[in-house]
Amino acid sequence: MRTKIIAGNWKMNMTGTAALDLIEAVKREVADVGKVEVVVCPPFTELKAAAAACAGSNVMLGAQNVHWAEAGAFTGEISAAMLQSAGVKYVIIGHSERRQYFGETDETVNKRAKAALAAGLIPIVCVGETLEERDDGRMEDVVVRQTKAGLDGLGADISRIVIAYEPVWAIGTGRTATPAQAQEVHALIRRTLCETVGGDVANGIRIQYGGSMKPENAKELLSQPDIDGGLIGGAALKAESFAAIIKAGV
Ligand code: PEP
Repeated sequence: MRTKIIAGNWKMNMTGTAALDLIEAVKREVADVGKVEVVVCPPFTELKAAAAACAGSNVMLGAQNVHWAEAGAFTGEISAAMLQSAGVKYVIIGHSERRQYFGETDETVNKRAKAALAAGLIPIVCVGETLEERDDGRMEDVVVRQTKAGLDGLGADISRIVIAYEPVWAIGTGRTATPAQAQEVHALIRRTLCETVGGDVANGIRIQYGGSMKPENAKELLSQPDIDGGLIGGAALKAESFAAIIKAGV
């Protein structure tokens, strides 16, 4: 059985008190939720304070990016060791906004995933096709390529990763993949994992769905056999909607 994992991607939102208030509210809402892993991913500047706020609760901390180098002349970047020292456990890698606006490629995703794992962090590796790629009939090619290339050469550590299937056309658009559409791609990712690392490992890897998941559609999505959680953007910025999605996964 795979434990469901619901992670909130705050993107470039929330500062200071607002960030801490949101964490406190999430903690209150999910204090009794036992069967789901809960992760919040604030911006870098809030990580240390967020780690203190999460300590001793069932809310875990994630970051939104990590660089592959251990240290050095990489202005504006952040290393896995820096995230670790801030109290981070998870890190989102290869989000479509980073692929689209910041030149992220399958190769850099792979390097970031390796660095995160080497430092003991759990990467949440994002894959997903654009609307144009889906309409052109290239969804399968894109998702299989991103999965294989992003996870290439991770060795035994691959069993620790989380994958997030996020169709780009569903992110922040209010347009969600139907449960059947999402399940089809999750099963494709699982088959791809089976072919590369074998069934035992593949069946233990969690695959989240992301893209306009909200309280109204969460239960049906999360009840699909290969959907093991959610990566939540907009709905993670309010404790009530984030908690409702988490409870839908119990
Ligand atoms: C995301 O950015 O990872 C995401 C899924 O956003 P939203 O839930 O707002 O579509």
